[in-house]
Amino acid sequence: MNEHDSERIAGLLEADGMSRAETDDDADVVVLNTCCIRENADNKLYGTLGHLKTWKDAKDGRRIVVGGCLSQKDKDVVRDRAPWVDVVMGTHNVHRTNELLQLAIVYGPVTEILDEAVIDDHALFPSALPVRRETSYNAWVTIQIGCDNTCAYCIVPAVRGKEISRPFDDIVNEVKQLAANGVTEVTLLGQNVNSYGRDINLAERKSGADVRVKTMFADLLREVGAVPGIQRVRYTSPHPKDMRSDVLEAMAETPAVCEHLHYPLQSGSDRVLALMHRGYTAQRYMEQLREARRLMPGIAITTDIIVGFPGETEEDFEQTLAIASEAKFDLVFAFIFSPREGTEAALMTEHFIEPEVVSRRFERLRQIVEPHALEMHEARVGLVEEVVVEGPSRKNEGVMTGRTRQNKLVHFATPSQLRPGTYCTVYITRAAPHFLQGRLVDILQEPTHKIRIPVASV
Ligand code: SF4
Repeated sequence: MNEHDSERIAGLLEADGMSRAETDDDADVVVLNTCCIRENADNKLYGTLGHLKTWKDAKDGRRIVVGGCLSQKDKDVVRDRAPWVDVVMGTHNVHRTNELLQLAIVYGPVTEILDEAVIDDHALFPSALPVRRETSYNAWVTIQIGCDNTCAYCIVPAVRGKEISRPFDDIVNEVKQLAANGVTEVTLLGQNVNSYGRDINLAERKSGADVRVKTMFADLLREVGAVPGIQRVRYTSPHPKDMRSDVLEAMAETPAVCEHLHYPLQSGSDRVLALMHRGYTAQRYMEQLREARRLMPGIAITTDIIVGFPGETEEDFEQTLAIASEAKFDLVFAFIFSPREGTEAALMTEHFIEPEVVSRRFERLRQIVEPHALEMHEARVGLVEEVVVEGPSRKNEGVMTGRTRQNKLVHFATPSQLRPGTYCTVYITRAAPHFLQGRLVDILQEPTHKIRIPVASV
């Protein structure tokens, strides 16, 4: 979500006549779009702002903008610790970036943090704004902002506000527009995509309409998947509490929806899941996971697991290991619990787990999940996979890198370089826990999007 907001900020600045600078020396404006999900975001921000003070002092007219979750949460702290910042703005101010910058140029430093009560449609859904995409063949599409859940470890509801669904037709129209511009792959973005549309239904019911309150995510998957030109549909993130069979059926029955489900487990212990306020049990999680595999044999399932949540006992952790063994995930993003100020879990200090205990548990989890990841990857060896090219490998320009429909990274040799967005088939020859290797079989489709050609002014 944060990266997508950054694309919009860059797009707005470009629409206002700016162009991307290649070096700090060339830049007139630096925008830091912060995210406070990960640990140490504040330390990194203030360290960077310290360096930027020197940069700003070196030339008249240089400006610094700080946006995103951290400024939404800590606007006064940013202003106090770095008074040389020109604009401090929040997560709902993306659409006002240019205006705020102009205000700062004319009147001096500006701080503006909008809360949802006063935001208009553009602020709600930055997808409606100009964009500067890093890639041209795939795109993020916001379907929902905010989150109504109360996961004890998570700062998102505090910095992104309550859950609001974007109108169905707006989303489909944006996808049609993207397809017309050569985009073939879209990723639908929301904090809890399975509950997409619940607020729209509730509002209709309150207004007197006789509607059954239901979520509309399955309908959205089918509709977006039917847009001509869209060959891959992905989404992130679903919540196991709200995952229903209709979504899995829509995935299975819509050819464009990719065979990949990122399905955050967080813990295999029902006791810890309750402490986290996740709203599901390990059994319910596994039932849906088995249903996904029944409907879509070969689907890749990835997950997030938090190790060392406050109060997690040895027995709780054993249950997480047991679920991880049973589920055989394609990839696990394991995180060591770290408190986020402003969350419920940050107050559970008397139940924090000793760091050495957590490190040992983390290592034990790694030893369980990595062989599974390798096993799932080895099952692809000998298959011919559809791959979309991302670009040349960072280590070897003669090797291309791309993604399968299961979202697995593939490195493969080609006689000549292929453009990002090229669809091809690749014969898989080797598996490692985090990537596959193969060789090109055929080129299926060249990208049709326009290539961005830099124009130098003279
Ligand atoms: S569902 Fe939970 S973890 Fe996800 S954004 Fe909402 S509160 Fe955070």
